[in-house]
Amino acid sequence: MHRQYYGSIIDGKELPAGRAAVMDSIDPATGEVLAHIQRADQAIVDEAVASSERAVPAWRDADGAERGRAMLRLADLIMQNMDLLAYLESVDNGKPLREAQGDVRLAAGYYAYYGGVADKIHGETVPLGPGFHSYTRVEPYGVTAHIVPWNAALQQTARGVAPAIAGGNTAVVKPAEDTSMAVVEFARLAIEAGIPPGVVNVVTGLGDEAGARLVQHPGVRRIAFTGSVPTGQSVLRASATHLSPVTLELGGKSPNIVFADADLDAAAVGSLAAINFNAGQVCMAGSRLLVHSSVHDEFVERLAALDRQVGLGRGLDNPDMGPITTEKQYRKILDYLEIGRAEGAEAVVGGGAAHVDGLESGRFVQPTVFVNVRNDMRIAKEEIFGPVLSVIPFDDEDEAVSIANDTPYGLTAGLWTTDLSRAHRVAARIDAGQVSVNNYFAGGIRTPFGGYKMSGFGREKGPDAVYHYLQTKTVSIQL
Ligand code: NAD
Repeated sequence: MHRQYYGSIIDGKELPAGRAAVMDSIDPATGEVLAHIQRADQAIVDEAVASSERAVPAWRDADGAERGRAMLRLADLIMQNMDLLAYLESVDNGKPLREAQGDVRLAAGYYAYYGGVADKIHGETVPLGPGFHSYTRVEPYGVTAHIVPWNAALQQTARGVAPAIAGGNTAVVKPAEDTSMAVVEFARLAIEAGIPPGVVNVVTGLGDEAGARLVQHPGVRRIAFTGSVPTGQSVLRASATHLSPVTLELGGKSPNIVFADADLDAAAVGSLAAINFNAGQVCMAGSRLLVHSSVHDEFVERLAALDRQVGLGRGLDNPDMGPITTEKQYRKILDYLEIGRAEGAEAVVGGGAAHVDGLESGRFVQPTVFVNVRNDMRIAKEEIFGPVLSVIPFDDEDEAVSIANDTPYGLTAGLWTTDLSRAHRVAARIDAGQVSVNNYFAGGIRTPFGGYKMSGFGREKGPDAVYHYLQTKTVSIQL
């Protein structure tokens, strides 16, 4: 179902292979080359930004309801193309088909949600007293840049692009080099939906080439970056050149806390989902599991028993868990498994690369649970971005909160407890942008999302996200 070549989409047209060098997109389950992806150079990025600049006036001045209708058509088209888009995300990223289908639904959901917001955006009047009329206008920035990571390309693109274009901005998207195919197809669907050419452009290419040029481009007036901390810092430095506001959605080392009064069956299943979903390649993965010492051993046994049943395979075959998306990430996870052992942690399940019959060249890792972990070990401090869980015992609520907050990150946290007062008390004390109780992935498009501390700043999702892509102008008149 995939094509052999995917190029940048500018003004609604895909640039031909001859325009620039290409790079390979690899199937992580087989190691085979899936397709060639255009490696956009500076000229292509400049062309994309110029096209998006040209598209600004008409899109900005269009009636909000018209923008919204086009976005709703796009949402429908994404759903109609579920088979193609989910297939592309699954083979490119390696994730199980049902997870890829979930990503497609989520992407469509973003365009529908913010399409519904597009005609409800307005300023307010300010009572300056008799003789004055003062009001605010909310105006788009113009061209926005969206730098997207490889773990969920289509839905991470939608998370930024949907609120941006709902508010009358245009968007240039730079997907990660390893997972560009579905994003290119999405830009084609935007044209089919009647979104004018240039409102959504895509430049495929390398981070330090196409990505770096895009965030330094003087025509880009607002940046949404999702990815690692070091790259986020470099994007922030680049944004200083033209003072473009930035949203940084970065990594995490999220605590997931199991109290002794929790429903332990639900907590075991939920805690493993929190680390094994998308093979742990999730920014909000619950990678530090804090368990009350009175239930620690019993709980670890439950986790190990469940993890031993996890089946690995090619994403399209809908296994419990797919391969690791990139070679670099695969090596990194295997390194951390070694580091954990060297630090004195013990893998009660997993602990190494996994062999899958018929997929000998695939990049598979065994889901792993480490015990004997201290919070000052590297496996507890650093983001691994793989199916590797570090279990740390605690004796009381204060200690749990103290361990949970003893991290440079602050993206999300999970709590498992049947004590309602404890749930509210601890949620308030955790330094994270999102706390979920008794369901690690509770939340969605309607709930604001973003980081504390080194997990970044700015909030995506929720109705307010559209205002992050708008700037306020005050008009005051003496009558
Ligand atoms: P990464 O930082 O390596 O790359 C992210 C994107 O930045 C890619 O498109 C890459 O090409 C681009 N890039 C690289 N160098 C650049 C530069 N100098 N200028 C501009 N763009 C550049 O991250 P990754 O490995 O693709 O993704 C994994 C990371 O992303 C993890 O840390 C994960 O936690 C984080 N992440 C965060 C969220 C969130 O919402 N907070 C969501 C998903 C992933």
